[in-house]
Amino acid sequence: MIVAEQHIDEKLIGILAQVSDPEIPVLSILDMGVVRSAEIIEGEVFVSITPTYSGCPAMDVIGDDITSALRKEGYKSSVKLVLSPAWTTDWITEKGRRALEEYGIAAPLEAEADKEALLDGKKRVKCTNCGSKNTKLVSQFGSTACKALFKCEDCLEPFDYFKCLK
Ligand SMILES: [Zn+2]
Repeated sequence: MIVAEQHIDEKLIGILAQVSDPEIPVLSILDMGVVRSAEIIEGEVFVSITPTYSGCPAMDVIGDDITSALRKEGYKSSVKLVLSPAWTTDWITEKGRRALEEYGIAAPLEAEADKEALLDGKKRVKCTNCGSKNTKLVSQFGSTACKALFKCEDCLEPFDYFKCLK
């Protein structure tokens, strides 16, 4: 697991926590782990974000949302993309994982279990509706490319699983 350095000015945490992931509105960009740094330098805020999967949440949207959230609080800002190290699903916080599950998306498993669930058909993914592990992969792609569609064989509910990405 790559632990990414994070430098976020405490004064900015409350503001950034209000900016949500465009695809998963219950998840803030802080929970998603995309904010690498946010610093106030001579009254201007400099934010660095790392994009998630390509084809997943539009980083332009996140950048604009950050700028406008900061503007509302009276800050001028500039947002920069940092591509390395690449974002992984390990960066999603515990709070973010709980929010995902409550939203009906199974949180990413660690890499090995993820592979077993997606490639070997092993029952590793927990149903977000009833908690059963008696679940089956329906499609490698759910509502977006970063999710897979599963179905619970106990309660019969379909649900998305957020794939592990390293
Ligand atoms: Zn179920």
